[in-house]
Amino acid sequence: MTTPRNHSPRVLILGGGFAGITAMQNLKSALGDKINVIICDNRQTSLNKPRLPEVAMDGEPVKHVRFSLQAAADSLGYTFMRAKVEKIDPTGKQIYFDNGKLLSYDYLLIAVGVNKNYSAIPGFEEYGYSVCDDVHAPRLWERLKNFEGGPVVTGAMPYRSGTRIKAPKLMTPCEGPIGEIIFMLDYYLKNKGLRQKSPITVFTPADIFFEDVGANVHKDAEALMKQHDIHVMTNKIISRIEKDHVVFKDGATMESALTIIIPEYKAHSFIQDAGLGDEEGFIPTDKQMRHLDYPEIFAAGDATALSVPKLGHLAVMQAEIAACMIAGELGGDVEIPKYKPAILCIMNRGPLEATMIYSTYLFGGKIDKTLDGPIPFLMKWSFDFYYNYTLGHMPPKMGEKLLEKHFEKQAEDSI
Ligand SMILES: Cc1cc2nc3c(=O)[nH]c(=O)nc-3n(C[C@H](O)[C@H](O)[C@H](O)COP(=O)(O)OP(=O)(O)OC[C@H]3O[C@@H](n4cnc5c(N)ncnc54)[C@H](O)[C@@H]3O)c2cc1C
Repeated sequence: MTTPRNHSPRVLILGGGFAGITAMQNLKSALGDKINVIICDNRQTSLNKPRLPEVAMDGEPVKHVRFSLQAAADSLGYTFMRAKVEKIDPTGKQIYFDNGKLLSYDYLLIAVGVNKNYSAIPGFEEYGYSVCDDVHAPRLWERLKNFEGGPVVTGAMPYRSGTRIKAPKLMTPCEGPIGEIIFMLDYYLKNKGLRQKSPITVFTPADIFFEDVGANVHKDAEALMKQHDIHVMTNKIISRIEKDHVVFKDGATMESALTIIIPEYKAHSFIQDAGLGDEEGFIPTDKQMRHLDYPEIFAAGDATALSVPKLGHLAVMQAEIAACMIAGELGGDVEIPKYKPAILCIMNRGPLEATMIYSTYLFGGKIDKTLDGPIPFLMKWSFDFYYNYTLGHMPPKMGEKLLEKHFEKQAEDSI
């Protein structure tokens, strides 16, 4: 299938996660049916990953964290094609898919996220667990149901970033999910009467756990970890998982009856093969999400070099910018949003209890706050419900904007 050249411009979106879905909606708002949009994904469903800890540690049905990509595209009058990208030809402006199809484009948005490289950890297949997708999260829930207690070890694998653009350098892709794991597990094990015989230890390859936030959040997080009796080991990289222990790169070992890992985040090889990645395969863009070498290629989300740490919050922001840029170039009357990165993560800690982290510290900003209690819990719950129910729309931004203003004012007042 190639593009008939006399037709309306074709925008191809690769990937139907947070970034791809958001871009599709923004293109619709800006240009409606004046363009031809095709969204391609090798999955049938879009996955709301921040809800996966609830699947893994609270038995939430998997169907609550995903929705049909066909339905999402249909609701906007655009096309969904279920197929896996095999090759990108940026010079010929064509994409090759595993179903034998070949699509050309006028504009391309790459939003394919990252590969979670579980097999990089020997022993993971047999003894390791994770929460990062809709295969591993239910598998962990099955394991937990039969867990009789014992030491729990959890942490993230290291992250390697390229050097083509200026972005924060971090040792891990994102430790927010580890925060969710430890607090939810603490609650689950207490409820089962297993917590006494199940010490929880977090390891991090960095000098400090949650390396992407500032002193205020660290102070609050440390108090929470103390309150929940969670131990932290810094500068540790896991090298092997065994049945009853883990081995670290420095040779140290630690007893573990349950090992839960955030695996290595690896760029998709077809990006590197097409010459579109930096040294590590992440896509170098400017802050308007345009590829540094190909003006008609944009990228958003985890696949980009700019997304550090790898957060849905950043993926959505970048996708809005990329879609507005494309729409503007195709004649739409749009205002291009500014890239204002922030860490925003909500960690549930049991029924009606959650901790929200909101920090711009990593990006040179002044906000570095936690908010604790039922409000963040309700924010997360309502976001997840709204997002799935509306097939991937973001809730109205008023609440987030008010929160940002409130935190900004508090930061100003404290100077
Ligand atoms: C457990 C967990 C908790 C998290 N919690 C938070 C949180 O609280 N706050 C936050 O901001 N972020 C959070 N995140 C991070 C967030 O989920 C990601 O940053 C976000 O999903 C990235 O969006 P994306 O669209 O770039 O990529 P993805 O959501 O990964 O979507 C990429 C899409 O591309 C498709 N794709 C991949 N390869 C191909 C191919 N070859 N051909 C076709 N399609 C392909 C995939 O099937 C997928 O649908 C969490 C992540 C995890 C794992």
